[in-house]
Amino acid sequence: MAGKGWTFQSLIDGKMQVSAYCNVAACGHTKTLDLEKLRDRFGSDATAMEWDLRPRLRCEKCKSKDVGLIYAPDSSKISCMGQNLYSPPKNRRKHRAAET
Ligand SMILES: [Zn+2]
Repeated sequence: MAGKGWTFQSLIDGKMQVSAYCNVAACGHTKTLDLEKLRDRFGSDATAMEWDLRPRLRCEKCKSKDVGLIYAPDSSKISCMGQNLYSPPKNRRKHRAAET
């Protein structure tokens, strides 16, 4: 894995969030990618660098292939993990259901 860059699994493990945005000014559609879904589809070893993903992406709104990507730490997931330690079991189950 070393030297290959990000894979879907390493993005998930690293609590990263990947957002796609449409470069068409009139559209401006953005979407957060479902990394777990993509990992299941392409495999945990599949590289997930921008140049790997961009050819596969297309704006679901205007069908443009001119799509860019933003890689950022997933702050909601990081804070979620902290909260989970202290949240009652009911909330924990709800969180797990949202992930699957
Ligand atoms: Zn678009």
